Amino acid sequence: MKYYSTNGKAPMADLEKAVVKGLAEDKGLYMPERIVKLPKAFFDDMPKMTFLDIAYNVAANFFGEDVDMDGLQELVYDTLRFDCPVVKVEENIYSLELFHGPTLAFKDVGARFMARLLQYFTKSTRGKENSLINVLVATSGDTGSAVANGFLGVEGIHVYVLYPKGKVSPIQECQFTTLGKNITAIEVDGVFDDCQALVKAAFMDEELNRHMRLTSANSINVARFLPQAFYYFNAVARLSALGHQTSDIVMCVPSGNFGNICSALFGHQMGLPIKRFIAANNANDVFYQYLQTGKYNPKASIQTLANAMDVGDPSNFARILNLYSENGKLSAEETHQRITSLISGATYSDEQIAETMRQCYADTGYVLDPHGACGYRALKENLQPGEVGVFCETAHPAKFKEKVDQILGTDIAIPERLQAFMKGEKQSVPMSKDFSSFKSYLMKQ
Ligand SMILES: *Cc1c(COP(=O)(O)O)cnc(C)c1O
Repeated sequence: MKYYSTNGKAPMADLEKAVVKGLAEDKGLYMPERIVKLPKAFFDDMPKMTFLDIAYNVAANFFGEDVDMDGLQELVYDTLRFDCPVVKVEENIYSLELFHGPTLAFKDVGARFMARLLQYFTKSTRGKENSLINVLVATSGDTGSAVANGFLGVEGIHVYVLYPKGKVSPIQECQFTTLGKNITAIEVDGVFDDCQALVKAAFMDEELNRHMRLTSANSINVARFLPQAFYYFNAVARLSALGHQTSDIVMCVPSGNFGNICSALFGHQMGLPIKRFIAANNANDVFYQYLQTGKYNPKASIQTLANAMDVGDPSNFARILNLYSENGKLSAEETHQRITSLISGATYSDEQIAETMRQCYADTGYVLDPHGACGYRALKENLQPGEVGVFCETAHPAKFKEKVDQILGTDIAIPERLQAFMKGEKQSVPMSKDFSSFKSYLMKQ
């Protein structure tokens, strides 16, 4: 399979190049040249299949031309060592719990899949001079832990996680500072934007790039966002096993950078029968405004309770436009019309998020995290008679324990997996925010 750039000014790439480079030369995002529909027999069998088998079939449809079948099966089985259950919250509203992975976040799947795919592609050069791949990732909390754990122990790859000193929660910090092995945590004396600036400067620095192979692991990478489609196929399978008509399903995705919903839309293009989608946002409402007006006006992000969705210029918006404009063939009006006929939006303030968490807990006993709360509320407000709503619960509420307890007056339990991280010893490299010290540190590695 070849991949083209959404900006249309870069050469086509094969999967290996798209994964190793992440971004195309013209700064566009890579898109597969074809999205192949899965056969009807597969959809008929799906309710009887396991999550692993469903995922393997979906993966083969995307990556089967470029990865041999045994390699792909191993990759999928190694990535999905946990479940993604559909939990009934109330009549016709289900929570798709995407937080049963190693760091209790849905990003675990994409991070692990990408790590193993990089490893697969670099196997032949391993051990040769300068073959080590160095992944640089800046984090405000969640991405760093998912990427660090996904890449932990993967041969031939070293990960540097840059995070702002004193600005991530203790639970988040221990998830990437206690791992050791091929993971190095770098504690930057600055804010998240300083971390991101250091990573960007490193990619631009010629001397550094001659010294070591550098790559990034953010959500624009095709190997990170596409595997999330596995979740949506599984959700449809489980709901139809419960006796629901798949043609009634409304899928609601709390969105920030729009990678997760984008994977669901790719699934839809592969024939997954979902009636319509809702993108639920916090106060960062650029996509919502696009749906209303047809105009896309990126803004600076606003800090909210659902901070993993604090994005003012979602990177994957370019993919959604490209998908529904058929790579620019349709006009802006036609594209907007196609998008709004399939996807609607919602936007909620912090007050509304907290109020929703309280209402849901009081009425149903289900503990929402602030991100999932946006999804649940959008369904409550928009679901039509006869429809079945599914919202993604994107993080375990214990990851936001302080906020959740404060809002609900609870003392929710911290899962053992999180507690285990908290027992480890913190190791990090202190770093100033100027590039020269970061560069001289990397030049010594
Ligand atoms: C990353 C994240 C999101 C947003 O997902 P996108 O793919 O960026 O839209 C939502 N909730 C949580 C908890 C996250 O970590």
